[in-house]
Amino acid sequence: MTVNNQMTKIIGVDIGGTSIKFALIDTSRGIERKWLIPTNISEKGIYISDEICSSICETLGEKGLTKVAGIGIGVPGSISSDGKTVVRAVNLDWKEVPLKNIIENKLGIDVCLLNDANAAALGEMWKGAAQGKRNLLFVTLGTGVGGGIVLNGEVLNGCHSAGGEIGHIPVRSDENRLCGCGGRNCLETFASANGLSLSMRKKLEEVNEMWSEITPPIIFEQAAKKDGLALQVLDDFTELLGQALAGIMNTIDVEEIIVGGGLSEAGSDLLAPLTEKIDCYVFPQIKHQFSVKKALLGNEAGIYGAAYAYLSMKQLN
Ligand code: ZN
Repeated sequence: MTVNNQMTKIIGVDIGGTSIKFALIDTSRGIERKWLIPTNISEKGIYISDEICSSICETLGEKGLTKVAGIGIGVPGSISSDGKTVVRAVNLDWKEVPLKNIIENKLGIDVCLLNDANAAALGEMWKGAAQGKRNLLFVTLGTGVGGGIVLNGEVLNGCHSAGGEIGHIPVRSDENRLCGCGGRNCLETFASANGLSLSMRKKLEEVNEMWSEITPPIIFEQAAKKDGLALQVLDDFTELLGQALAGIMNTIDVEEIIVGGGLSEAGSDLLAPLTEKIDCYVFPQIKHQFSVKKALLGNEAGIYGAAYAYLSMKQLN
């Protein structure tokens, strides 16, 4: 099949709980146009797909394009194994939404759906921190803990669309932290930004100390000033996260771990001790043979990755 210039343009979409990001991407030149619209979550999110279609039509019209080769869409939820339906997206109040067909029927353009963390993993592989790699573990440490596993260039979606859901790895603890998934003591309840702040709060309560504000940047700042409690909390945090990531490394044995999300802003203050912890628990052959890098694309990773997912589905790349 010959691909003419116009047909190498694709649209990457990243649906978030507050905004929907779009990019018109030329496969050889990169992003040509980026825009976003607010996510209309009223009435169980029934307007979202229409608003995505109108926004795409509007931009294509402005660019004088009648069509693009395809659309890749990252969704904050799980996708059915046939790639057609959003099984569940809590933030959008979606259950069993056949998004692929809805958009294809409306626009007459092929659509590829995938989970947003998986999209970000592919984005980092295509244009970000893991460029040129085909095997990686992508971890986001934000409000929650998300993940994406890429093996031989392809995302692992799993038999129940839960592949790479590393935030819900059970953690052994004396505590009883309730997770958004309904489980107790999932990795996310400790290794997310909220989890870290909660651990700090508990540690301060133990010794009857108070800080006026507890946020991850403040915790890292206090640790840099050698505050004993902050150092202890961060040590527990990296220990627990390091064990979980080492377990995944021992299972999939990839060459790179890419860390994104708000907590990755701590840079080497987080990544250096985390790498040390992972090294303590990985299989001897893996020790010192992998790298832990900060994600590069920030909130553009998802739109790049969604577009890449479409390309690889069509094998145009
Ligand atoms: Zn959970």
